[in-house]
Parts: sequence; C-alpha cells; structure tokens
Amino acid sequence: MARYSAFRIVMEGLSGNRGWQPAWRKPTPKTSYDVVVIGGGGHGLATAHYLASVHGISNVAVLERGLIGQGNTGRNTTIVRSNYLFPENHHFYEHSLKLWEGLEQDLNYNVMMSQRGVLNLFHTDAQKHAATRRGNAMQLSGIDAELFDRDAVRAYCPLIDTNNGRFPVLGGLFQRRGGTARHDAVAWGFAHAASERGVDVIEHCEVTGIDVEGGRAVGVRTSKGPIRAGKVGIAVAGHTSQVAAMAGLTIAVESHLLQAWVSEGLKPMIDGVVTFGAGHFYISQSDKGSLVFGGGLDGYNSFAQRGTLPEGEHVFQAGVAMIPALSRVRALRQWAGVMDMTPDASPFICKTPIQNLYMTGGWCYGGFKATPASGWCHAWTIARDAPHPLNAAYTLDRFAKGKGIDEKGAGPFFWAQ
Ligand SMILES: Cc1cc2nc3c(=O)[nH]c(=O)nc-3n(C[C@H](O)[C@H](O)[C@H](O)COP(=O)(O)OP(=O)(O)OC[C@H]3O[C@@H](n4cnc5c(N)ncnc54)[C@H](O)[C@@H]3O)c2cc1C
Repeated sequence: MARYSAFRIVMEGLSGNRGWQPAWRKPTPKTSYDVVVIGGGGHGLATAHYLASVHGISNVAVLERGLIGQGNTGRNTTIVRSNYLFPENHHFYEHSLKLWEGLEQDLNYNVMMSQRGVLNLFHTDAQKHAATRRGNAMQLSGIDAELFDRDAVRAYCPLIDTNNGRFPVLGGLFQRRGGTARHDAVAWGFAHAASERGVDVIEHCEVTGIDVEGGRAVGVRTSKGPIRAGKVGIAVAGHTSQVAAMAGLTIAVESHLLQAWVSEGLKPMIDGVVTFGAGHFYISQSDKGSLVFGGGLDGYNSFAQRGTLPEGEHVFQAGVAMIPALSRVRALRQWAGVMDMTPDASPFICKTPIQNLYMTGGWCYGGFKATPASGWCHAWTIARDAPHPLNAAYTLDRFAKGKGIDEKGAGPFFWAQ
C-alpha cells in the first residue's frame, strides 16, 4: 500500500484518482495467530498497531463483529485531554496526549487532531478550589493547565452567559493542548497502519466463545470458525462483561448509555471544547460547522444504542443556561453508545486470572482520548505478560483490595456515587 502524502494527492488528482487502494486489507482469517484481539474499535486496533510497530508481533488478528469503528469509537464526541487529578490517571492520559500529538505521522493518516483547547467552567468557590487543585496537580507533573477568571472565559467564548442568575460563571480550568480528533478516522488510521505491518483486520467476525484449556486461553470461536491464539486480548468496551463471561470471568463493569447530539451547520461560534460545571453539558463545533454536544449517562443499564428523552431534556436545558443563543439552534441527529462503567470511573488494562488472556476496558465515558495509550499499554502487557508502570494501577482486583482510583473525589465510598 502506497503512503499518503501531499505529492500523492496531487499526482492522483492529475490521473483521475484511479490509483488509490483500500486503506486496509480484507483478509480471510487464518486458523491461528500469535495474538487475537477481540473488538475492532480504536482500542483493539491501536493494540494491534503497537504490537506490530513497538514489539514486532505482527501475526495478529483483530476480530470485529461489525464494521471497525462503529462502536463507541465512531459514536463519541471526540474530546482529547489529559486534565486528570490523580497521578495514576494523569500520567497515563498525558502519555496518550503525547501519542496523539504525533499520531498522524506515526499512522500516516489524517485523524484531524485539533488542539483547540478544553475549558471546564466552575460556578462556585468550592468548584474553583477543586479546579485549582487539579490544575496544580497537573502542573506539578509537567502537564499544561491554566486557570481562567471570568474575563478570560468571556474572551475565550463570548457567547457564554457568565452572568447567569442561577449559575454565574466564576472561571474555568483550561487545557490548551486538549482538543478534538475525528473519531472514525482514528479507527481507520490504526487499521491502515496495522494492516500495512501485516495485521489481519477482520470485519463481520463475531467472537462467540473463548477457549480455555488448563487455565490458559488458547483460542476463540467465531462466526467465521474457530481460531487458535497464543494470546487473546479483549477490547470490546460496553460488551466487556459479556465477552469476559465467555471465559468464565465476572468483571466489575456495568453497561450504561451515553448520548450525543449534532446541530445543523452554523458559522464558527465556539473555538474549543467547553463543559458546563452546573449540569451535564459540554459542546464543541465540528469543522463542518455542526455543534457537537452531550451530557451525562442515562442512568440505567442497557445495550440499546439509542438513549431516552429525560437526559436529552437535561442536556438542552443545561446548554441553554450556559449559552442562551443555543435556544435557536436546531438539533439534527442524536444517538447513544454503550459505556463500560467501572465503580471508580477508571479503566482496566491488565492481565486476567486466566493465563494469556488480557483486557483493556472499563473506559466509561472517557476512553476516546485514551485510545493510543490504551493500545500502547495493552500491547505492552500482552507482549511482556506484565503491565507497564503507566497501567500498573489499572487492575481488575483493585476493588477487592480497596485500591480504587477515586478520581471523582467521592471519598472511600466511590461505589455509591
Ligand atoms: C456519546 C458518547 C460520547 C463520548 N465522548 C467522549 C469524548 O468526548 N472523549 C472521550 O475520551 N471519550 C468519549 N466517549 C467514550 C469513548 O467513545 C469510548 O470510551 C471509546 O471510544 C471506547 O473505544 P473502544 O475501542 O474500547 O470501544 P468500541 O469503539 O465500542 O469498540 C469495541 C468494539 O468491539 C466490538 N465487539 C463487541 N463484542 C464483540 C464480539 N463478541 N466479537 C467481536 N467484536 C465485538 C464492537 O462491535 C465494537 O466495534 C464517548 C462515548 C459516547 C457513546
């Protein structure tokens, strides 16, 4: 497959665009691989890419039951940032952000990474103290963070109603290197790069069972027949509990819905990403001009990728409270994804109690930004049969040991949040 370049675009344009090849191969599955990765979202494809590019393991298959990127990867609101409080999280997400910053060159694919900034508003003194603490923790770890006062918020996004009588804006925590990337291009880019290195990306291949012999994973059963595997990695997001159950494992993950909306195309009105601090609402504007926005979880367990009206009502109310001009905007589309929620809102990237079976999951509503580092750490853990220091805390047994990563600050009772 030829590399993409500006020169190539010009030459193809001059010759009727007849020379383009598919971005990734469409192989039939072999009977065995060194590593089988279940799930062709960003995390599974990134795992395969880094297995091949960092560890030299390219006899790898990624098995996706539908089309790659049609799970949460292609359904999310594309925010990329590393503004986490705790070291277990912010070092990992900062590693991810650094991978994002070089991703297009690494993959030879335009993922439309746009570091337009992420602003989290605060409305009370208590929120301001929490934001200051978070920003200080980030800065102490060498991660960029800026505290905006009300004037800086106004200058950054003049449409925000900073004087709202009920939810006045006091300021915001800003991460300038945060931003957005094009969601499905991330899946396509990882598939392109992995395929170039010999990885088989196999779509419409559902895993229906995991073969375990003598406490060791030895292969998978699929809708295209059985496949032997030296090692198996699970990267299936909202279906983590179901796929893990195929190997007899019970995982501390519940599947919940998260919705998103896009509006009609509008002239530029919001430069970066802004989140409301007095309700569940966040917003950015796509390159096409659509406003892209969402809120919190629907609040009940489901595998339906639709969502319900009450959360939509809340999102629209919060949005209009933050930016009154939104009341005149028409929403065009809405959808939902199935989120793999953990009790402490932090993920798993780890070995499992079954030998040669590994997992990246529990990404909750924030796993898009983690895509490169999740794949990088998952690949490391698979290749070396041991975690990298960056994912050492993301274990399955941390709840049993009382070592939950309480990023949300809910104290010792994070399971009750
Ligand atoms: C509305 C919404 C907004 C979001 N916004 C953000 C955001 O702004 N920033 C952010 O960081 N995160 C965000 N997220 C979260 C983010 O999208 C996810 O955490 C991330 O994309 C998960 O990637 P993944 O590769 O793990 O999962 P997925 O992309 O869901 O991939 C898993 C794949 O596994 C496949 N699969 C499942 N079962 C099987 C099986 N048995 N056999 C084979 N394949 C199987 C599925 O078909 C799917 O393609 C958002 C999510 C949603 C829904």
